[in-house]
Amino acid sequence: MSATPPIRNHELHGKEPLLDVAIDILAKLVSFPSVSSEPNGEVIEFISAFLSESGARVERLRSPHQPKENLWATFGDGDSDGLVLSGHVDVVPVTGQNWTRPPFSLTRDTKRVYGRGTTDMKGFLACAMAASALFQQEKLRRPVHIAVTFDEEVGCHGARELVDFLQRTNIRPAAIIVGEPTSMAVVDRHKGSVGFTTEILGTPAHSSQVHLGQSAIKIASELVSELALIGERLTQDAADAAFSYPYPSINVGAIRGGQVRNIVAASCAFDWEIRPILPQQLADIRRAFDRHVAEKMKRYADAGGLVPSITTNVAYDTPPLVGLPASNAVSLAMNFADRNGSSAVSYGTEAGIYQEAGFNTVVCGPGDIQQAHAADEWIAVDQLEQCLSFMRRLAQYVTEPSQ
Ligand SMILES: [Zn+2]
Repeated sequence: MSATPPIRNHELHGKEPLLDVAIDILAKLVSFPSVSSEPNGEVIEFISAFLSESGARVERLRSPHQPKENLWATFGDGDSDGLVLSGHVDVVPVTGQNWTRPPFSLTRDTKRVYGRGTTDMKGFLACAMAASALFQQEKLRRPVHIAVTFDEEVGCHGARELVDFLQRTNIRPAAIIVGEPTSMAVVDRHKGSVGFTTEILGTPAHSSQVHLGQSAIKIASELVSELALIGERLTQDAADAAFSYPYPSINVGAIRGGQVRNIVAASCAFDWEIRPILPQQLADIRRAFDRHVAEKMKRYADAGGLVPSITTNVAYDTPPLVGLPASNAVSLAMNFADRNGSSAVSYGTEAGIYQEAGFNTVVCGPGDIQQAHAADEWIAVDQLEQCLSFMRRLAQYVTEPSQ
């Protein structure tokens, strides 16, 4: 493609010339059924080949733990001060959903394109890949990176491995833009989401001899009640009006235990989560729960009778994204998105993991979160156009001469 000068903002009205390219790429991305449970080598191969042909240095980062890969692509020279466009390539399953269109084949009407992942979040990746035509034409004054991760939907495992890679190789980007669907709003805050499983092992006995057993279900129910009390206490702190539920929250979402009515339950487990607004709240809630468990265990030990086993394991850990004053990533994203302010969302993203690792991070991407994970998932063509406008302003910024 021949070099074209950067386009000024006022020239962006009307049809975005990169749109057809982006939709072609999106059609290809959607055609890979890259559900989180499956290996993702084929879709990474496609992205890798495309970005290599576009002039990027591409590294495929194979996971040591599973048949999955991250991808790290760099336009321009150097490893410092770059801007990262980051997105996950895994999608949620379509099983059990009532699709009226083929989920893994892009279909289009005048205003929307349909297919699994169009909103969450292959639409953003397609725009970033289409924009690669803009990143190679002139000498970039700072690098642009495209990061593609695996398994965001099942615990952000790829993002954690990407952080390991960045730290191991001492790559220090200036800003990471996570393109999760925000309708192109600039999001500088979201809650975290940390999942746990607590397992209780008691002692079984016939229900006519309850004094010989120790019910794991009874202990679990006491612990679940304690979590409810901790959750109620959280509402005594100051409300954060940025969130529709303005406090950190605790939810016990599933419980499994016992066998039959007439046996004292030998085991019980429950799955629960904390959604903190700030990292400290997560630590405080976990400490309150652990203290309660420790006191309970001490009472059993002091009584000299049966002592149950109570263990709590972390299932996944997505930290909150915390709003930082004067964040470089946020002001850059506001510039590129042509927005005057930033906002908060209630869903989690990989951004909290990058921020926790010390990277300046913001969330801004095309599509409405209402369509994410839904049957007949779609993205508005207008959202893709807005995202491409964002990419153009970004490309203009990185190719401007230094002042
Ligand atoms: Zn997503």
